[in-house]
Amino acid sequence: MFAAPRKLSLADWGERHLQLQQAGRREPFYGGPLRRHVELEKDFRLEQLQFDNSPAALRLWNFFLTENSRLHQARTAGDKIVGTMKDLGTVPVMAYALPGVRAFYPDGAWWTPCLMECSDKLLQQAAAMGVDASFCPVRAMLPAFENGEHFPKPELIICSTGAVCDDFSAIAQRLEHRGHPVFWWEIPRRRAPAVGETSCELPGKLLAPRSQVEAVRAELQRVADALGQLAGKSLGDSALTDGIRAANHIRQILADLRQAVYSAPAAPLPALEMLIAEMLAIHFCSDRPEAGLVLGELLAEAQRRMQQNQFVLPPDAVRIFWVNPVADLRAMNLLEDVGGRLCGTDFMFSHALDLIPESLPPLEALARTALADPMVGPASDRAKRIIRECQTYDAEAVVISRIPGASHCAREGESIREMVRQELGIPVVEMEIPPVCDAMLPTMTSRLEALVETARNKAKGLKPNSL
Ligand code: SF4
Repeated sequence: MFAAPRKLSLADWGERHLQLQQAGRREPFYGGPLRRHVELEKDFRLEQLQFDNSPAALRLWNFFLTENSRLHQARTAGDKIVGTMKDLGTVPVMAYALPGVRAFYPDGAWWTPCLMECSDKLLQQAAAMGVDASFCPVRAMLPAFENGEHFPKPELIICSTGAVCDDFSAIAQRLEHRGHPVFWWEIPRRRAPAVGETSCELPGKLLAPRSQVEAVRAELQRVADALGQLAGKSLGDSALTDGIRAANHIRQILADLRQAVYSAPAAPLPALEMLIAEMLAIHFCSDRPEAGLVLGELLAEAQRRMQQNQFVLPPDAVRIFWVNPVADLRAMNLLEDVGGRLCGTDFMFSHALDLIPESLPPLEALARTALADPMVGPASDRAKRIIRECQTYDAEAVVISRIPGASHCAREGESIREMVRQELGIPVVEMEIPPVCDAMLPTMTSRLEALVETARNKAKGLKPNSL
């Protein structure tokens, strides 16, 4: 069943899947050969990716790639479906505290054009709805809502407003104007407490004025009321406390996985699988118990490989911290093709990785967690955490990937880059990665190769170049 770690193409996975079946591997209900996602869902991008060869990775990919069909099945079985947008991690903890409710992020449709190599035409359809390429790829969710070919139409759409990027604000308002009612809740821009002002500690070593925590707590009470109304059952402190405990269980497994992989002497799991695994934190890929099992199996695989001194990449791979998620998943393979390995990430939802305080009243704990969102505070707060984690995991270089058209990162990348360089003196590169990056591959390859070479020269005490 277990084999020495290596990366497989989609075609190679066909043979490996057969071997696993013959060896008696039992798969969950969403299991099967990965190729079927190309044949049935037109996820053509899978043919260009390299995958980890473990049974745990197979389960992760099948879980990730079946989310839409599992949501449709849940709807058929009578579950209520909530589309929660933008907050990336907080509202789903509340929704999953209610029986028969599933929350997902329609924002996740931004990966559909990549996976389908734009055969879905979502980006063109968005342009026809007045949301063109001057917006980030999240615009794909707008036509996905209307054509019903991807996720099911939610019974309730919940979206945060206030400290939200211009792109998302405009796209969500357009959605509402096109006849999809949105339940708005407000999150203020996080600010440092003034001198003498009562403050609260937030996850991620942050502080916020108590007045802001109170304001968010009141907003989340409205969200809890709306969710309770949808479920026909009130969402009180007891259910929320259980929901927080269950979410923390998953966050703890993910924390252990990140710690194991990013601190290992060589990479026990590839960057691409780590990106997908981290994404499970925000809404459990629409199945909370299963998300815990998927992550638990990945953690066990990483630990097993480390015990046996088996790694998927050579030990001299350069340790790279990656900032921002990539629209094209192929970029994570490329990082490793040029001699890098992942040793830390900030995929814009670090607040969904932190444990939610269990010693506080639940809505206050969730309010503090929501306010710790790296995207609702100053870029300098985000940069400080990146610097801390680069130090923790001995990062030798940083990649800041930009998302085309994204208003959140027009200047943020630059300020993070400057702070990291000043504090750590390690090379940093900032590069844009479109939903299908083939045309950019030569440029991206050269820039990542230069980054790896600069980090290697620095480690040897040679003069760094200008990265
Ligand atoms: S601009 Fe950035 S934060 Fe806003 S929706 Fe796009 S990717 Fe997300």
